[in-house]
Amino acid sequence: MRLANRVNRISVSPTMAVLMEAEKLKSRGVDVVDFGPGEPDFATPEHIKAAAIEALAQNRTKYTASAGIMPLREAVCGWHGEQLGSSYEPAESIVTVGGKHAIYNAVSALIEEGDEVIIPAPYWVSFPDIVRLAGGEAVFVPTKAASGFRLRAEEIEPAITPQTRMVIVNSPNNPTGAVIPEEEFERIYELCRSHGIWLMTDECYSHFTYGAARPYSIASVRESKPHLIVIGSLSKTFAMTGWRIGYALAPKPLIDAMIKIQSQSTSNPTSIAQYAGLAALTGSMDSVPVMLAEYARRRARILAGLSAIRGVSCAEPSGAFYAFPDMSKRLVNGSGDSMILARQLLEREHLVVVPGDAFGAPGFLRFSYATSIERIEEGLRRLDHFFAASAAAT
Ligand code: PLP
Repeated sequence: MRLANRVNRISVSPTMAVLMEAEKLKSRGVDVVDFGPGEPDFATPEHIKAAAIEALAQNRTKYTASAGIMPLREAVCGWHGEQLGSSYEPAESIVTVGGKHAIYNAVSALIEEGDEVIIPAPYWVSFPDIVRLAGGEAVFVPTKAASGFRLRAEEIEPAITPQTRMVIVNSPNNPTGAVIPEEEFERIYELCRSHGIWLMTDECYSHFTYGAARPYSIASVRESKPHLIVIGSLSKTFAMTGWRIGYALAPKPLIDAMIKIQSQSTSNPTSIAQYAGLAALTGSMDSVPVMLAEYARRRARILAGLSAIRGVSCAEPSGAFYAFPDMSKRLVNGSGDSMILARQLLEREHLVVVPGDAFGAPGFLRFSYATSIERIEEGLRRLDHFFAASAAAT
């Protein structure tokens, strides 16, 4: 079959192979410990679900404006201003089918053949492929485990060329959990401004920070607006991954271009999900600290468990719900990659982890701790067993 070239530029996420094997085992009734999921294991709060039910009862089941219903655009701007200190008008906002779709729309509106987009590694799997789909080239800038994967402006600078159009940052980060310190974020913004390139900031984990880290947006620096694209999502903050509501905040001409693209693709995000989103952004946020406290407990447990394994080191994540240990000293036969290790953990221990190769970081594994403390304990037991058994075999 002759497929369009753009399809050959991208690949199905390499994480899928391991996750599909895991699904097969689960369907056979095997007790799988799953550190794979990139989504909260909490239920969507009741008042948000009730708003969707009410929207159904009110027959709010028709097309909406492409950019989303106006009360929701207002709520996005209001919420972001209140929580993260920005100052956007509804005309500078768009509601999308999840945060991923907001990234897709913005990249489609700005990037074309010959453009370069700088993406710090380890990176969330979709960034490079969304850039490639648009015809752009992803240029990776490695961040180091030794400095907690915290991105520095000086690491980006050498990668800037006359073709660079955008830098994509994600803090708190998936997969490392790293949070960029506020002063450094300002330096990154200043670097983008001085080179006339866009800074896209993916804030999808903004409200899951630990220790001294706090929810922060570079959009709180008012002058940043002309160079900034803020990407947000209700998926993680409100445990709403399946509802598919995200947003972007950006200068109006860019938002208008994104609305144009959206109007010729999805038309609008699902109407009833938008009403649920409205309840999320205007209602009680009591569920957020409850989730955060539970994630903090799990984080402490998994970090203690991982660092107790000989040869494994794990930079302390300041945000999100992932641990990203360096397993390179424990790779099978001292060589191979973390794909092989992930496969062996699945086959021998029925333990699901995502290999770092997927995120541009071979030698690492991603453990999501969006699972119960009991399952974390069980997973750590299996990990210990795996390494004890492999030590005995050599
Ligand atoms: N950005 C990052 C860094 C993510 O990890 C995810 C989801 O895992 C998303 C964006 C997209 O989330 P959604 O499309 O559900 O809003």
